[in-house]
Amino acid sequence: MTAPVFFPGATIGLMGGGQLGRMFAIAARRMGYRVHTFSPEDDTPTGQLADREVAARYDDERAVRDFARGVDVLTFEFENIPANCIEWAADHCTVRPAGRVLHLCQHRLREKRFLAEAGLPLPPFLEVNNTAELVGAAQRIELPAVLKTAAFGYDGKGQRKLKPGDDLVEAWVLFQGQTAVLEAYVDFQCELSVIVARGIDGKMETFPVARNVHTNHILDVSVLPFGEEKVERAARELACAVAEKLDLVGLLAVEMFLTKGGDLLINELAPRPHNSGHWSFDAAVTSQFEQQLRAVCGLPLGSTELLRPVAMANLLGNLWMQGEPDWAAALAFPEVKLHLYGKTSPRAGRKMGHLVAFGATAEDAAGKVRGARAALLGSAGGSRG
Ligand code: AMP
Repeated sequence: MTAPVFFPGATIGLMGGGQLGRMFAIAARRMGYRVHTFSPEDDTPTGQLADREVAARYDDERAVRDFARGVDVLTFEFENIPANCIEWAADHCTVRPAGRVLHLCQHRLREKRFLAEAGLPLPPFLEVNNTAELVGAAQRIELPAVLKTAAFGYDGKGQRKLKPGDDLVEAWVLFQGQTAVLEAYVDFQCELSVIVARGIDGKMETFPVARNVHTNHILDVSVLPFGEEKVERAARELACAVAEKLDLVGLLAVEMFLTKGGDLLINELAPRPHNSGHWSFDAAVTSQFEQQLRAVCGLPLGSTELLRPVAMANLLGNLWMQGEPDWAAALAFPEVKLHLYGKTSPRAGRKMGHLVAFGATAEDAAGKVRGARAALLGSAGGSRG
């Protein structure tokens, strides 16, 4: 059977209602598609831009089936969706990526076992279900290590670094009743990510490598170009190997560590657009969102060429703590673009928007984006560039 192709005019269903869906909706509507979004909430970042917004629970079978009947192809901007939700949808429309990809990537242990079995590089890890297993795992892996919940973890949620001498019984309390993974702590040179798209014909395109800086386990800044050709080539090849092994149709973000010894280790997979690819909306020939659209619709993939050195900085809810940020001050940087996600309640750690800055070099762009973000806080602002 030939895989179906969906042309402009078709309706894309999106599970999830966050900022990734919002930017996807912009790309899809620009190309003449209709977008329907499904999430448990109303007036979501995606819903504000979609043709249709459905607010229902992911385990509401009737709502999921009704939604799927109204779309041609279904994709995701959020992967923590119950497996049966995808099965219900698949009775009524094409689903890309396949439910099995989602199932794998929404659980750290499944994901890590898949990578290990595929012979792909990742930090040593062990499954942990109770205190005794944690004690045993800590002896085998050796501390420092990072304890992570297997399910529903993102942006550092459900994660704890363990150092030699830490009380493991006390550490386990937070994880009680859950399956967790103990993973060796990687004393990395830097973090990086590659986003790869794979089409229905198996052709792949990778985006240029982003150099990522995390603060409190949350992505803070992404900068491009990465600037080390050998590492970039290896990282892009690694991302392709993962997509190939997954037999993916769609988009996949592969987060990696570059160790001090120069090796790449895979940290995490996300079968959807990724925060570290937001720069592509402004600075690539094809954005990650348009590429997701092309891949899930079965169309040829676009060029991922980086147009100019660029940096992206997240705007977390913390920036609102002293009142409305000074937008004019940030926009006084002529090479800075502001993206806000339409979220009305800023909370500490909540991703409210991001800034993108262009520069003559990656360092220049990084300096500008940090300067513009500092300027949002008023007199604390950095130098104009
Ligand atoms: P994660 O939720 O697994 O993507 O982790 C979020 C961030 O925590 C990563 O981007 C790293 O900055 C840090 N981190 C997670 N796992 C490790 C590790 N094994 N070694 C060192 N840092 C880690």
